[in-house]
Amino acid sequence: MNLILLGPPGAGKGTQAKRLEERFGLVQVSTGDMLRAEVKAGTEVGRQAKAIMESGALVPDQIIIAMLAARVAQPDAARGFILDGFPRTVPQAEALDGMLKDKGLRLDHVIELRVDDAALVRRISGRFTCARCGEGYHDEFKAPRQVGVCDVCGSAEFSRRADDKAETVGARLAAYHAQTAPLLPYYAAQGKLRAVDGMADMSEVTEELNRILAQPA
Ligand code: AMP
Repeated sequence: MNLILLGPPGAGKGTQAKRLEERFGLVQVSTGDMLRAEVKAGTEVGRQAKAIMESGALVPDQIIIAMLAARVAQPDAARGFILDGFPRTVPQAEALDGMLKDKGLRLDHVIELRVDDAALVRRISGRFTCARCGEGYHDEFKAPRQVGVCDVCGSAEFSRRADDKAETVGARLAAYHAQTAPLLPYYAAQGKLRAVDGMADMSEVTEELNRILAQPA
């Protein structure tokens, strides 16, 4: 099964992708995580992407498409993948259609997580993760049980994404509405799009996704 989680930054795509990954044995493919790894490793792609990501704009299609093509060609992706943060533009979606066709694969579901912009700003600007195990936290909604200590691994080191600052969130939402929202009619025309209320409780969203994925595409 191959699927896309579509939705604005902060809609919960990453959290839900991790849950689906475990439940259905799929591989989460997050272009944002891949780019952050490139930046950290100081690669050529990372150097090109860093300032763009920090501004909240989108990294050029040709960089992203090449990175994604290399990732889905890896053997573990044959189990089926959950695309999280890709595609983000119509040319990326067209390139994906071409890649899948060449490999004889199909897209089973495209699921939109719908969340109000006001809620997104609040969600994004409070989030942080454990620097050791990656567990996600939020100042307001999910603080660690003991201040400054990760609930899962006990580490006292946390990190915040450089682009999660309130000043950048507006640019990221604007990019979503201008460049990514046109994918909604694109996939609706293919008869693949389903919408889920991303404002609901995280576990309710997971249940709804499980229900959709249990049905035939
Ligand atoms: P994310 O972690 O998905 O929110 O992505 C963080 C940032 O990485 C975005 O704001 C973009 O600058 C860049 N990025 C991630 N995925 C893509 C993509 N598919 N197309 C263009 N830029 C991307």
